[in-house]
Amino acid sequence: MAAAALLQIVTMALGALVLLLLLLYLLAPARVGRFIARILRSDNRSLHWGDSAQQLQIFRALIDNAVDMIEVMDPATGRLLDVNAAACREHGYTREELLGMTVFDLDHSLRREDFATNLQHLRDGETFIGQSRHRRKDGSEFPIEVSLKYVTLGRDYLVAVVRDISERKESDEALRLAALVYQNSHEGMMITDNDSRIIDVNRRFSEVTGYARAEVIGKTPAVLHSGRQAPEFYKAMWDTLKTQGHWEGEIWNRRKSGEVYPEWLAINGVPDRKGRMYRWVAQFSDISDKKQAEEQIWIKANIDNVTGLPNRSMFADRLKQELARARRNGSMLALVFLDLDRFKEVNDTLGHDMGDLLLRQAGLRLRESVRVTDTVARLGGDEFIIILNELHDTSVVATIAPKIIERLSAPFELSGHTAFVGASLGITIFPTDGLTPEVLLKNADQAMYMAKKEGRSRFSYFTPAMQQQVDRKARIQRELRDAIDSDQLLVLYQPVVDLRTGQIVKAEALVRWQHPEQGLISPSLFIPVAEEYGLVVQLGNRVFRDAAGVARQLQSLRENFKISINRSPVHFDSKGDTWAADLETAGIDGSAVIIEITEGLLLAARTGVQTRLQALLDAGVQVALDDFGTGYSSLACLKKFSISYIKIDQSFVQNLAPGNQDHSICQAMITMAHNLGIRVIAEGIETEAQRALLAQAGCDFGQGFLFARPMPAAALEALLREAPQPFTVEG
Ligand code: C2E
Ligand code: MG
Ligand code: MG
Repeated sequence: MAAAALLQIVTMALGALVLLLLLLYLLAPARVGRFIARILRSDNRSLHWGDSAQQLQIFRALIDNAVDMIEVMDPATGRLLDVNAAACREHGYTREELLGMTVFDLDHSLRREDFATNLQHLRDGETFIGQSRHRRKDGSEFPIEVSLKYVTLGRDYLVAVVRDISERKESDEALRLAALVYQNSHEGMMITDNDSRIIDVNRRFSEVTGYARAEVIGKTPAVLHSGRQAPEFYKAMWDTLKTQGHWEGEIWNRRKSGEVYPEWLAINGVPDRKGRMYRWVAQFSDISDKKQAEEQIWIKANIDNVTGLPNRSMFADRLKQELARARRNGSMLALVFLDLDRFKEVNDTLGHDMGDLLLRQAGLRLRESVRVTDTVARLGGDEFIIILNELHDTSVVATIAPKIIERLSAPFELSGHTAFVGASLGITIFPTDGLTPEVLLKNADQAMYMAKKEGRSRFSYFTPAMQQQVDRKARIQRELRDAIDSDQLLVLYQPVVDLRTGQIVKAEALVRWQHPEQGLISPSLFIPVAEEYGLVVQLGNRVFRDAAGVARQLQSLRENFKISINRSPVHFDSKGDTWAADLETAGIDGSAVIIEITEGLLLAARTGVQTRLQALLDAGVQVALDDFGTGYSSLACLKKFSISYIKIDQSFVQNLAPGNQDHSICQAMITMAHNLGIRVIAEGIETEAQRALLAQAGCDFGQGFLFARPMPAAALEALLREAPQPFTVEG
């Protein structure tokens, strides 16, 4: 059908042409007719029209209008005999200039002998076609293609048609480069047609996929499919390609060997002349190494290298996720903060390698103690943290916690050594105790701290009271700094009475905090905070200055009067102890001062304590052991530290009754002290009965509300002045 139609069209077209020529032949003026007639019977040799002058004109017009350069030269010398406008334009010379030149001036690579030999062939009627370079007037060169013909018209001429082939050269070069890049690219390349048939692949393609070119030509890229991506993935890819003509992304493919690998793939459509995509060029690089490196980096950033457990950063992510999930599901979550007990000892005695080994084993035991879905992470050091997720009933925590403690208390076998540690756990519950990761972590930490404080290998739940305590401490700490500087501290003096004479012979300096809003604050509230936050030295020095001044004042009033000053054990740790020197510069006799220390200080036997105490002793200061009986007192200590007094703690005095246990203890303490040459002060005497029993037992001094409450220095001074003997002795 189609062939028949085509034949019909061709026949019609030919018919029309013959008709047209016939019409022209018949109608045209004589010259046109002759011209057409000559065309019709023309042979290759020549066309003849008009007279020679007209012919020349027409030739001239033809030559000058030619796009190519036309140069006519003398074959013997190479001299240019005629040139067209294009030749002048391209070379940058005028016609006159060119006519004074030879071909060798234009083509510097042309050698006269080559020119001569080539002419030989041309004389035989051949056409020479070759390439070379021509030089412009400005010195620049351009590539040319030249077609040479020998013409003999009375004399010999050489006619050259020269064409500037710069553009062609450039595009040739670009093509050559593109092919080079294509073949040698480090990226695999594949070209497909619109039916997804592979038309070509480069060398790298074969290296990466393992398929030789011949194996894949004509196939579809499906040969590479790994099966890792769902059909929807490819559909989305094609949707993008069809709408945008470009797609880029990560994809898993399969090598000929069966191995699946990740690649970064970019596909670009190539449009045809009408702008429709008809080729697809896929470029890809194997990113297995990059993926592996990324994985390594991820591991470094998220996994603890000692235990292989998630580290702090990954734990933070997990906690966030788990909290979001718990919120969605309306479930609860427990955060368990865990600190190994005595781990430091293992590290110190067996070395860090053994310490690491223990941490690894501890991590394993923890993992085994919880469900797979729970998170066990190491925060660093000997601290671990556990997220128990999806709890619908917090009672499970109460069974898991002792189980964990039990598992961690079992001996650890560390290549030949056996080590024992334990664990203290702090537990907090979402959402009851807190809602954010920060709050929950802080809660769990506090609860753990409490568990440690209560004795190790315990677990403790976070309570709001803990939170309040922490908040209060933080507030006190902040405000206390200002209080010390702004003189909100005042020192009161509580008289100490000689139980035999009833005379006030000493007084204890007791600090108070006159808070601008909260009124008088007890030292038992702020001294521990001052100790914890390093403010106790400043505070102690402040009290000391005040008390030493009062001591001097009162000693002048009553001979041998002494002021007792409490000194925190923490103060003994500090360097730059100034008390002994301060006394000297102030010209105060050391015998006017007693320093009260606690048993804990002596037991801990901190380095430097003895030398610091000694400096005070050398200055004539006496030392009293405060709160005696509440700790583990050692007689050896009393002697070693040259203790002058013990202060029986008020807890023994409070319940004192004839013949009861506390009575016996007080009697024993007094006897023992006296045997060592140490005098005894009883604290917290509130009743006459207590005073009487203590006096009977031979107690030397008494202090308590029965005699007087702590009072300002001026009040004490007044008391001493007006009442030389206010407290009568009975029995
Ligand atoms: P402490 O050294 O054992 O002081 C005796 C405490 O017993 C004082 O409490 C005193 O007011 C109280 N007290 C005295 N007589 C009685 C009584 O009859 N009944 C009762 N219930 N209590 C009585 P305060 O002043 O609250 O001081 C508490 C603790 O604070 C002191 O115990 C001492 O350890 C410490 N402290 C006070 N001032 C200072 C100081 O300047 N520096 C240091 N480091 N600690 C101080
Ligand atoms: Mg005291
Ligand atoms: Mg005391």
